[in-house]
Amino acid sequence: MCGNCLLQETALICPMECPKGLRNGPCGGITPEKNCYVDESRKCIWYSIYKQALKSGKEETLLEVLPPLDWDKVGTETWGEVVTLIRKTGTLKFAGSLFSKNKVRKTEIWDSVFKTIRQPDWWKGDSVYHPPAYNEPASEFERRLRSGEFVVATEVSPPVSSVTDKLIADIESVKPYVTAINFTDSSSARPKMSGLACSSVAVGLGAEPILQIASRDTTRAGLQALGIGVNAMGIKNILCITGDNPKVGPEPRGSMNFVDLDSVQMLWILRKMRDESVYLDGRKLKNAPKYFLGAATSPFASDPLLQAIKDQKKVNAGAQFFQTNLIFEPEKLDQWLEELYKRDVLNKVYILIGVAPLKSLKVANYLNSNVPGVVVPDKVLRRLEKAGESAPEEGVQIALEVIDAVRNKQGVNGIHIMTLGWESIVKRLVIESGLDLNPIRPPAP
Ligand code: SF4
Repeated sequence: MCGNCLLQETALICPMECPKGLRNGPCGGITPEKNCYVDESRKCIWYSIYKQALKSGKEETLLEVLPPLDWDKVGTETWGEVVTLIRKTGTLKFAGSLFSKNKVRKTEIWDSVFKTIRQPDWWKGDSVYHPPAYNEPASEFERRLRSGEFVVATEVSPPVSSVTDKLIADIESVKPYVTAINFTDSSSARPKMSGLACSSVAVGLGAEPILQIASRDTTRAGLQALGIGVNAMGIKNILCITGDNPKVGPEPRGSMNFVDLDSVQMLWILRKMRDESVYLDGRKLKNAPKYFLGAATSPFASDPLLQAIKDQKKVNAGAQFFQTNLIFEPEKLDQWLEELYKRDVLNKVYILIGVAPLKSLKVANYLNSNVPGVVVPDKVLRRLEKAGESAPEEGVQIALEVIDAVRNKQGVNGIHIMTLGWESIVKRLVIESGLDLNPIRPPAP
């Protein structure tokens, strides 16, 4: 009854059970038991879809970029349309295909019915890579990655008030040591100063922002409005994420059932606006915007093979860089990187590994209990516990060890320091890890 049937591409399992309304694969919040973090009493429906598709040899179907809902059709039967299209194809021909051993012919006949439904003219999604259609880097962040530099990005926490003093101080303190600064979009579904406002402040201070946009709070009209507006504010990097479900946010909660878009669809729409000068409704854009597009990834969310399929889809849709979730066990990254390599993805996307300086055992436990997709392993918890009052120092050492372990991995292009509110530590991490590329600085005023 979603009226926009895509069962042919989802191993015949309906994805509408996903509370986030995701139509292009699992989110990063799946629990270690492979359950849904929004409702832990049931399996993640996308995990089941991926497993079933792999079992039946239909892995390639997981790569097709599927459209957002046409809400005019929601609540209506798709079957009427199916019957009409079967008649158009030829009922006998279609029935014969059910028993055909010729896979190519069978797919052709089925596509004449189901692809027409799941890929309407205003979307026309596919499973192939679309290289960016521009030559000069869109931003300094992109320029440095292209040049082969090991790039450092960080995050400055948006304030929870309208006063910008701390925001400005934090941006100023990290700016000399990083190439770009992320501003989250109400992370953990908690309202904070908007990423757009923070990015605008950063541009005013001469820093380069990465604007995060969570599809949780974004409609298709809002996304396209942002897409054409960011350049006017000096923003040249955008990171598309689905965002945490309101379940992890404060009460009273908003709808936890539907989102208008998922992150893959956001990438697809923004890429087409930039590279094909076209809006979702087909209208032509007079002057296309220019931005460097990124996405988040959780290498250990389900298992590396499944995650690599989802990541390949994001790259096909438009992701040019990835920032990973927090990594505490860098040795485990190898299998995921290997899967991306096998899929010929590593040469199409820049990867920045998420590193966090844990200030205390309490922070580590909070992450484990409250942040979907983040797992702080026991060995890290034990080290922080043993360190007692020296836990902040131990947290810094753990972060430095992770940086050291990832910096020479093939396919890793930089790090993303997630400060968890500890922005003042960025300078030390960058200097002590030997990543400060500009050690001669003018004296402080
Ligand atoms: S874990 Fe994420 S992708 Fe899976 S069903 Fe829940 S919200 Fe959907």
